[in-house]
Amino acid sequence: MTVYLKNATFIDWQTLEFKSSTIKVNPGSTGNIEFIDDFSAKSDDDVIDCKGKYVTKSFGCGHHHVYSALSRGMGAPQKQPRNFYEILKYVWWTLDKCLDKESIEASALATAIASAKNGVTFVIDHHASPFAVDSSLEIIAKAFEKVGVSHLLCYEISDRDGYDIAEKGLSETEKYLKNNQGLVGLHASFTISDNTLESAVKLSEKYKSGIHIHVAEDKYDEEYCLKNYNQRVIERLNDAGVLNFSKTILGHCLHLDEKEKGLIKNSNAWVVQNSESNLNNNVGYFNSRGLNNNIMLGTDGMHSDMLRSAKAAFYVGQGFDAIDYPGFYKRFRNVHHYLSSNNFSGDGENNLVVLDYDTPTEFNSSNFLGHFLFGIESKHVQHVISQGKVIVKDRNVTMVNEAEILEFTKEQGKKLWGKMKEITYE
Ligand SMILES: [Zn+2]
Repeated sequence: MTVYLKNATFIDWQTLEFKSSTIKVNPGSTGNIEFIDDFSAKSDDDVIDCKGKYVTKSFGCGHHHVYSALSRGMGAPQKQPRNFYEILKYVWWTLDKCLDKESIEASALATAIASAKNGVTFVIDHHASPFAVDSSLEIIAKAFEKVGVSHLLCYEISDRDGYDIAEKGLSETEKYLKNNQGLVGLHASFTISDNTLESAVKLSEKYKSGIHIHVAEDKYDEEYCLKNYNQRVIERLNDAGVLNFSKTILGHCLHLDEKEKGLIKNSNAWVVQNSESNLNNNVGYFNSRGLNNNIMLGTDGMHSDMLRSAKAAFYVGQGFDAIDYPGFYKRFRNVHHYLSSNNFSGDGENNLVVLDYDTPTEFNSSNFLGHFLFGIESKHVQHVISQGKVIVKDRNVTMVNEAEILEFTKEQGKKLWGKMKEITYE
């Protein structure tokens, strides 16, 4: 079945040119799109009338956390965190310890559905479930594929729960990379021993992958590194070879000095900015000065709405960064360059959103960025096409039964919150 978007106004995501046409969307991981003048459909074609609608490339998320999906509304932690380290300890490292296979599946389904409905057809995820490491990536991949969202996954390897669990993270990563596109995930420099870091880089070399790691999200990461390794975080990661991969993703990068920024600038590694998460954790503000243009945007697991992340990057950037209209759009779209330049599959031209965007003013190529920043929101996402397949039609997911899944996720959320109450701290 081929999808046709009839009478659409197509916006080229790179040139921002507007074009009126019927669009033929060819299916598959290498499918493209064609502009059709003489349109005649076959009976089994899926024809969507897009008169008055805008069609453009769908969106991608550069840094997400499936594991946090069931945290919404879970209430205050047992102990009130006083700083970033305690936010991890009392909230996220408590939650991830309680995940099991079922709650991972529920988290992944919830994330995939939310992503799809927000027009996000590609998610780069960073997953942790230290007491359910085995097969966790396979479970997430399957859940994403059920909904029709493409992915680039990794397991967040860390020594924070002991070397045995770090070892399990390495094995899970290797098992997954043998058959799938993926990355080698590391939590952050301050929970990674030299041995684990070395093993992760070796694994990345063996599978021609890259490292996905949190970097200097809080000052604590730098302070710990200076105290324990007598060098700064990026110096340590660079010495270990992390920056040698063009697939490497460095999350946050808030507290880097000029030398560290220079090392990143002269590498092929990518930086991912997560403004709302930084505000929420009160850890500081991203500033691109001293870096190159390899900067993309993520949600850090807070939500799955990349239009929201793009706006946040722009607004925070007014006080703390040099970011203008073209700049924030470039960061928003850079995920596609990251994926294509590294030959990852699932983000071709046949990934599209149909926007039902009602504007009170003229909308064209020359003022697209103003509309993109102040007008277009995820509520305008009406249909979503992933690899040539309609995965959201009239704001409903098509591949799975959302109501049934939400029952399942609620049940799993309750179970997870109950387990979290039983965790004790020294
Ligand atoms: Zn993160």
